Amino acid sequence: MEDCLFCKIINGEIPCEKVYEDEEILAFKDINPAAPIHVLVIPKKHITSLATMKQGEEEIIAKIYKTINNISEKQGFKEKGYRVIVNCGEDGCQEVKHLHFHLLAGKKLGEKIVE
Ligand code: 5GP
Ligand code: ZN
Repeated sequence: MEDCLFCKIINGEIPCEKVYEDEEILAFKDINPAAPIHVLVIPKKHITSLATMKQGEEEIIAKIYKTINNISEKQGFKEKGYRVIVNCGEDGCQEVKHLHFHLLAGKKLGEKIVE
């Protein structure tokens, strides 16, 4: 996807602070963190959102959650805990149209996730 910000990050056109990478997944620090730890975990394959996933693409979701748990263990916040958020579509306030999982940690987060 030529005009996709996260595809540009994946192909190195736009720099990022990498946290984890394999053949299918990239995790990098959010440029505007909402918590002390704010990592974005994305599939390397361009998928616009949860709402547009095609048959067979669901497998990547399980891998992303496994990756998130591995990151939490490596970075030492697995026991303390973390939050995962996926914004989808207009009402979900999804700004970047490439599926991404927000991994938030590093402090006791607010009880409410909707303002
Ligand atoms: P959304 O609102 O689509 O769920 O989240 C998009 C996220 O991407 C936001 O948290 C925003 O701070 C982050 N972001 C936007 N542009 C960049 C960028 O160029 N680099 C990085 N690392 N994060 C970005
Ligand atoms: Zn993309």
